[in-house]
Amino acid sequence: MDGMYPNGICATVEADRAHVWHHLFQHAALDTQDPRIFLEGKGMTLWDQAGREYLDAVSGGVWTVNVGYGRESIANAVRDQLLKLNFFASNAGNVPAAQFAQRLTEKTPGLTRVFYANSGSEANEKAFKMVRQIAHKHHGGKKWKVLYRERDYHGTSIGALAACGQQERYDQFGPFPDGFVQVPHCLEYRAQWDVEEHGQRAADAIEEVILREGPDTVGSICLEPITAGGGVITPPQGYWERVQKICRKYDILIHIDEVVCGLGRTGQWFGYQNYGIKPDFVTCAKGLASGYAAISCLITTEEVFDKFKTDPGDKLSHFRDISTFGGCTGGPAAALENLRIIEDEALLDNTLAMGALLMERLQELKDKHAMVGDVRGKGLFYGLELVADRKTKEPLAEPLVDAVVAGCDAQGVIIGRTARALPGFNNTLCLSPALIVGPSEITRITETLDRVLGKIAA
Ligand code: PMP
Repeated sequence: MDGMYPNGICATVEADRAHVWHHLFQHAALDTQDPRIFLEGKGMTLWDQAGREYLDAVSGGVWTVNVGYGRESIANAVRDQLLKLNFFASNAGNVPAAQFAQRLTEKTPGLTRVFYANSGSEANEKAFKMVRQIAHKHHGGKKWKVLYRERDYHGTSIGALAACGQQERYDQFGPFPDGFVQVPHCLEYRAQWDVEEHGQRAADAIEEVILREGPDTVGSICLEPITAGGGVITPPQGYWERVQKICRKYDILIHIDEVVCGLGRTGQWFGYQNYGIKPDFVTCAKGLASGYAAISCLITTEEVFDKFKTDPGDKLSHFRDISTFGGCTGGPAAALENLRIIEDEALLDNTLAMGALLMERLQELKDKHAMVGDVRGKGLFYGLELVADRKTKEPLAEPLVDAVVAGCDAQGVIIGRTARALPGFNNTLCLSPALIVGPSEITRITETLDRVLGKIAA
C-alpha cells in the first residue's frame, strides 16, 4: 500500500483496517481491498484517500447532508455555542434548544413541543415509550400496542427493530418485546388490487389488523410518510386520508417517522405535509442538522404533552425519560443554522424544481432500459425498482443490482440501494442528492446511470 496514497494517509488506512468496525459492512471484503476513507467534502463532492473525486447522489450515504458538505456557517455556529456552553443535561434548558424548538414548531402547525435526543432510533423509542406511559396513565394499561408497516424501518435499537418491516434488519436479533404489530405495506407497483382502489384497500388492511387486535389495545401507528430504505414507496391515492380516518375512529395516535423526509427532502418541510396528515408525533433526525451534529427530536401536540403534566404527586405523571446527549447544545446550534440555510437559500423551491427535472430524466431512463420497472419518489427522494422481467416484475438479481451501484461508483457517482425488505426485494436504487443540487449534477447522475444500466443489460 505504501506509495499508493499521499503521505500520512497510509497509517490511517491501516488504523482503520485494524481497529474500526464499519457499519453495515462485511469486513471480509477488506482482505482484498483497502477501506475507503473520505477525507473531504464540499457541496455535493467528496474526496477519498486516493484523491478520487465523487459526486454524492445520496447525501452522505443515508439521506442526511441536505444542505451539502463544508458549510462554514454551521461549523462557526457550533463552535461559538460550544465555547459559550457545550452541555448541561437533565431538567434545565439552553439557548439554542429553546430557539430551535420555536423555529422548528413554526414549520409544524398543530405540533408545539420538542423532545431532544440523538438518533432517529432514539426519537422513535421516545414515541413508543410515550404511548406506553399514556396507556398506563390514561387507559388503564390498555392501548399500549404500536402498529408498524411491512417494509418500513424505524431504527436499530431492539425496541425500534420490534417495529421493523425489513426482514434483513431484524432477522438475527430476536426475540423482540411484545406489543408491536405489523400491517401490510402500500406499494402500488406490486399491488394485489386495481390501482384505482389500491389506496383504499391498503388502508382498510390496517383497519382489519386493528379489529383483529382489538381497538382498545392499540395506542399508535408508526409510519414513514414515504418508505425510504424499504423501497422508496410513495403512498397511493387516497391512502393517507383513509388511514387518518381509521386512526381517528379508533382513537389511535399517528406517529410519522420523518427521519428521512424531514427538513425538506420532499420539497415540503416535512413529508407528511404532502398528504394533509395531522400527526400526533413527528420524529426527525438525519436532515435536522444535515449531519453537522448528532441531533434528533420528537415533536408532539400540546394535547399529548398535557397528558404528562397533571398529578404532580403521581410517579407516572411526567415523562420518565432522559437522553444524556439530548443536553448537548451543539446539536440545536447546528440545526438552527441548517434551517436558516434551507430558508434563506430557498432550498425547498430548489428541491421541487430539481426534483421535477430528476423525475423527468429518470422516466426517460425507464423508457430506455427494460431493467427499470418503476420510478417513484417525491422532491429529491427517488427510487428505481430494477426487474429481470417487466411483465412478471421479477426483481433483478441482487448481484446485478450491486453491479449497477458499483458501476456508478467506478464512474465517480455514489448512489444507494434499498435494504432487503422482503426476501428477494433488494432491488431498488436510491437517489437523494443534496437540496442544493443543480441541473449539471442531475445530468451527471442520470447520464452515469444510463451508461451503467446499458452496460449491465448488455
Ligand atoms: N427511521 C428511518 C425512516 C430511517 O431511515 C432511519 C435510519 N436509516 C431511522 C429511523 C434510524 O435512525 P438512526 O440511524 O439515526 O437511529
